[in-house]
Amino acid sequence: MRVRFAPSPSGDLHLGNIRSALYSWAYGRHHGGTFVFRIEDTDRSRVTDEHIHAAADTLRWMGLDWDEGPEIGGPYGPYLQSQRLDVYTEWAQRFISQGDAYHCYCSPDELEERRDAQRAAGRPPGYDGHCRALTGDEVSAYEAEGRRPVVRFRMPDGSTTFTDLVRGEVTFDHRHVPDFVLVRGDGMPLYTLAVAVDDTLMKITHIVRGEDLLSSTPRQVAVYRAMGVPPDELPEFGHLPIVLGPDGQRLSKRNGVVSVAWYRHEGFLAEAIINYLALLGWSLGDDREDFSLAEMVEAFDLSRVNSNSARFDLRKLEAINGDKIRALPASEFAARITPFLQRVGLVADPPTEDDERVISGGAPLIQERMNRLTEAADMLGFLLVDQAHFSVEPETAARSLTVDSQPVLEAATAALAALGEGAWTTPTIEAALRRALVDELGLKPKHAFGPVRAAVTGRRISPPLFESLELLGPVPTLARLRAALAGLAPAA
Ligand code: GLU
Ligand code: ZN
Repeated sequence: MRVRFAPSPSGDLHLGNIRSALYSWAYGRHHGGTFVFRIEDTDRSRVTDEHIHAAADTLRWMGLDWDEGPEIGGPYGPYLQSQRLDVYTEWAQRFISQGDAYHCYCSPDELEERRDAQRAAGRPPGYDGHCRALTGDEVSAYEAEGRRPVVRFRMPDGSTTFTDLVRGEVTFDHRHVPDFVLVRGDGMPLYTLAVAVDDTLMKITHIVRGEDLLSSTPRQVAVYRAMGVPPDELPEFGHLPIVLGPDGQRLSKRNGVVSVAWYRHEGFLAEAIINYLALLGWSLGDDREDFSLAEMVEAFDLSRVNSNSARFDLRKLEAINGDKIRALPASEFAARITPFLQRVGLVADPPTEDDERVISGGAPLIQERMNRLTEAADMLGFLLVDQAHFSVEPETAARSLTVDSQPVLEAATAALAALGEGAWTTPTIEAALRRALVDELGLKPKHAFGPVRAAVTGRRISPPLFESLELLGPVPTLARLRAALAGLAPAA
């Protein structure tokens, strides 16, 4: 089995691309096949080197490794279509000499005019075969006008039927598949030609891709046949249902976020995106929703892909992301949040020893409580920010740091200041504060610790307080308590 992922990355890869990549990859890996990564960049005005690097980087980040493709090459390379243009034009020439293609001189305006006439007559618009059988004189006349012809494929009469691996038997009547352009007037080969030539030359056996490409299948099959591929050697196709946005329309920039790079930047784990995209249209079969890429490969089969379109749900992805975050080993979790802390300047690159200490101490305090890695910066910020830049959120100060809190903060400061250097541990901190605030001042824990939390973390919600104070250390803790005391707001 040889499967492929063949994007035309004119920007970041989007969720639909990655879902095709994931399903192809899992299908290939499940069957011990070869995964080919090919870039369809015949239109270099849209696909840049930067997009290609980003696509490779995204695939790697997702854990979808390729056996042949950009950066590593392989026996059927090059794997960038822009480096294979003469292969396509040679085939186009061959098709012309075989009679499977012809030069078409119609101008865009003429085509448009005739399509309008077709529509007006209630017929489906499409190429009408005008140039299928031009005489030598007609060709000379067009050439004399300076027209540059496109190469158009001569779609045979009849129909194309194939058994789609997801949708079952599909038939296209060729009356609805007009002759199509293979090579533009400027000599640029187009997608339908390049994709079919490459799938043949790269010996692709199974094509798994989005349903939006279903309608191009009869054209591709016709090109394979023109290349001499016998009917029983055509690749198999599996077309995945489209992914819908929250409004029931196709998921796009208009109704959601589709860029995989965005999800990565926003603190989603590759494991979560994979798990979620796998669930979107496929199931492990036993109602299990939480699985790894390896488990998916183990169980994957296209026959259990649902042919109905599925609706993308960001909340569900986020919930899965939270589960995947909680499932990370502690050291791995610490490693994953580090770049997010560096990005906002809370941690040096590389981290200092003190950064490392706070991260490894702080990580277990927050790992259970977050759905995105980006939240780490908010949750651990008070531990990492230098004293000069620490501040209490204005809203928190107004609610929790008023003159009413003065006795609490004074008692807390005194109790903590009395702890010796060596006694600054979570249990001693907790015991000292409970004694001073709950036992001696007779406060309910909520009222006792709220002002301390506000003064020291700057927030009303924070990681567990006593552990946080231990990590922060006595000097900054006391400095923040004293600063809070000095700046208490009038009673609320
Ligand atoms: N390059 C095409 C695209 O990104 C997909 C080609 C295919 O999978 O057949 O839309
Ligand atoms: Zn024409």
